[in-house]
Amino acid sequence: MRKSAPKNRTRRAAPPAMTGWVVPLNDFKRKYRENKKAIDRAIKRVLESGWFILGPEVKAFEESFAKYLGARHAIGVHSGTDAIAVALMALGVKAGDDVITVAHTATPTIAAIRQTGATPVFVDIDEATLAIDPGLIEAKITARTKAIVPVHLYGHPADMSTIMDIAGKHRLAVVEDCAQASGASWRGKKLGTWGTIGAFSFYSTKNLGTFGDGGAAVTDDPALAERMRRIRQYGESERYKSVIEGINSRLQVFQAAILNANIPHLDRWNRARKRIAARYQKGLAGLPLVLPSDSNGEHVWHLFVVRTDRRDALKSYLADYRIETGIHYPTPVHLQEAYRFLGYKKGDLPVTEKIAGEILSLPISPELTATEQQLVIKTIRQFFAKDEK
Ligand SMILES: *Cc1c(COP(=O)(O)O)cnc(C)c1O
Repeated sequence: MRKSAPKNRTRRAAPPAMTGWVVPLNDFKRKYRENKKAIDRAIKRVLESGWFILGPEVKAFEESFAKYLGARHAIGVHSGTDAIAVALMALGVKAGDDVITVAHTATPTIAAIRQTGATPVFVDIDEATLAIDPGLIEAKITARTKAIVPVHLYGHPADMSTIMDIAGKHRLAVVEDCAQASGASWRGKKLGTWGTIGAFSFYSTKNLGTFGDGGAAVTDDPALAERMRRIRQYGESERYKSVIEGINSRLQVFQAAILNANIPHLDRWNRARKRIAARYQKGLAGLPLVLPSDSNGEHVWHLFVVRTDRRDALKSYLADYRIETGIHYPTPVHLQEAYRFLGYKKGDLPVTEKIAGEILSLPISPELTATEQQLVIKTIRQFFAKDEK
């Protein structure tokens, strides 16, 4: 009698990134378990409603998100990238226009600007905040400049007061890239409500995330809100009546339902991130690392990014202990192959280029336990101690 093959032969090995880490950057199963009841109820509610495009679930989320931020209007769209693109389209930004932004960001910031046909113009960052250096903006403004897109990278606010002063003086629109900054403020006012339009992402890892893609654009201007609502659905003012050119970028109903279940927890999750950040500041003090500033407590710690000129060695040491870290981002956008046509070269953005080789993101999701964090801190201290001997 032939024996059947051992069972485990046919079982496929799980990808190491899903299971191999003792301390992962994110754990979505944990995230689901933590809010399982509300999420299950939300998904069931959508299935039983029979309503799968826009409608009450999306509207309810748009209203709670606008209220949470203190904005008049929120428009749910497919992603954070689309939130920036739809915002710029509503502002009339098009081919031949310039949009001032940074190269130290996630590529989607630039991809969104390019969706309009406009040209991104890069400004270097400030070494203390790692956000746009407001002192360098005016030198880049020309007759072609239409908008500024500051990025609140890692959840740390860019200097919105100075940026809004410059924009006002030159009559430029401001679209804040708040993808990493849900809940953060600048001088007591929520990010996303400083600029003409604020653009948010609900990608799973973000401070307010769904399980999949989602985004929203917020504004106080009713005419811009109306334009963005039209653009996200084929430019329609009513069914089958397209009054402007649009795209399909609706926030999915299932995603809106998950967001409705998650939004009541955003402040608590941001407080958890803040506690973890404070423990890192204390636990890593005195090491040859540049620790991030907390921007007078207004940072929401999407990422906790330390800097060291021995970044690669530290990263691989931590990986040996199965501690996952990240680099956000290893190659600045102006040096990415896809954007070579913009004509930038090494040396054009010295601070951006320098810090790209030094940054390391440590685990800081709200689900991270104190024990896991202790292990991260202990292992980093061990890495630096072994050199002193
Ligand atoms: C995530 C992110 C985006 C894009 O958001 P998606 O929802 O992934 O399209 C844009 N800018 C920054 C800074 C981001 O981190």
